Amino acid sequence: MNICVIGTGYVGLVTGTSLAEIGNSVICIDNDEKKIKDLKNGKIPIYEPGLDEMVKKNVDEGRLVFTTEIKEGVVNSQIIFICVSTPPRSDGRADLSFVENVARSIAKHINEYKIIIDKSTVPVETSEKVEETIKRNIKDKTIDFDVVSNPEFLREGTAIYDTMHPDRIVIGVNSKKAADILDKLYKPLGGELIITNIKSAEIIKHASNSFLAMKISFINAVSRICELSGANIKEVALGMGLDQRIGRRFLNAGIGYGGSCFPKDVSAFIKISEELGYDFNLLKSVESVNKDQVQHFIKKIEKTLWIVKDKKITVWGLAFKPDTDDMRNAPSIPIIETLLKDCAKLHVYDPVSSEKAKEVLPDNITYHDNMYDALKGSEALIIATEWDEFKKADLDKIKNLMSQPIVIDGRNIYDPLIMKEKGFIYTSIGR
Ligand code: NAD
Repeated sequence: MNICVIGTGYVGLVTGTSLAEIGNSVICIDNDEKKIKDLKNGKIPIYEPGLDEMVKKNVDEGRLVFTTEIKEGVVNSQIIFICVSTPPRSDGRADLSFVENVARSIAKHINEYKIIIDKSTVPVETSEKVEETIKRNIKDKTIDFDVVSNPEFLREGTAIYDTMHPDRIVIGVNSKKAADILDKLYKPLGGELIITNIKSAEIIKHASNSFLAMKISFINAVSRICELSGANIKEVALGMGLDQRIGRRFLNAGIGYGGSCFPKDVSAFIKISEELGYDFNLLKSVESVNKDQVQHFIKKIEKTLWIVKDKKITVWGLAFKPDTDDMRNAPSIPIIETLLKDCAKLHVYDPVSSEKAKEVLPDNITYHDNMYDALKGSEALIIATEWDEFKKADLDKIKNLMSQPIVIDGRNIYDPLIMKEKGFIYTSIGR
């Protein structure tokens, strides 16, 4: 099929490349000229395992092209994916101006029947607005089109796998013609195809992310009770998670959720609920537990170190989670900002996100290319992201390199008993 993907970010690039991989002809569009120039030169703007090779293969085999020209994509494709960002506004509502802008551009160039698919995460009723916008701006009012909601569930770090092996594909659609075409498009990927009405599909995405965020805040709240009572959150989470009704995933206590999705989707869901007339108090608590969790961790650091001023402190992990370079809403940011305000000397290491971190973190930080180099002479090691290489680190080497063997672990990656045996002063979450 001929497909165009508008917005070539994490979602658009992975979606476009995966659809090319299963044999479709895909045009990826972005209005960021540098991004498109880089992609044309074989440079992938994001870190996502396996993506480089898959992009190269599909470009070489002629199924994947990149352009800034929206007209080229719209005119030559029957299926148009909208994958632009929907960032939070200052009041927590989703900013849908990029979606509107793209809908207007599609309307300008539409020449025959098209399926316009919203893959960006949007509040319920957005597809109605997209349809309205296209109807208002389309020149030839006789041209038929369908607007579909097809929310994306990929996780950064495993985005290719998730797209190629989906648990489920949700298609919110009112037209049988569009549903049949999309059924055919997605068949090669397997996974359960769920056809719903458009509003249900929109809510499925917000409700899924909010539920996962709720699980994280729940276990973080329980970790506080563990700290106050002397229980161990890892044991509690295991005992809970083995109940199949609960499940083990998303029960890792830590310094809270971050990233480009959970924080904005929870607040957008609260806001749209409010607009519709429902006060989603439960989700307000999810947000406040999450904000509090990182502050609680900062207090732990201050309590352990007493005076932070002029101390060399090392932070391992900057990205909001492992296997990605995404720094959006990373919990490492408030931790580092607070320590810098308290005049600590910050040395940091992350396997892939240093360049992106430099764009969002203050200047007076020393970045390292090696996790052990970052530790030399340090008075404390803070773990902010649970990268695998930190889990496998040589504990004796860590201890020998540091001037004080203090480890403050925001991700519970080490065993407190082993750390004690090795002579570390070790603090973690909920145990
Ligand atoms: P992103 O910021 O990485 O990519 C969005 C891209 O859209 C950018 O490259 C931007 O330049 C481009 N863009 C903006 N306006 C445009 C326009 N008018 N024309 C062409 N291109 C335009 O964002 P993302 O992480 O890919 O997220 C996109 C959407 O998917 C969001 O709604 C997000 O919530 C949702 N989503 C993201 C993830 C994730 O893990 N990142 C997962 C599921 C859903």
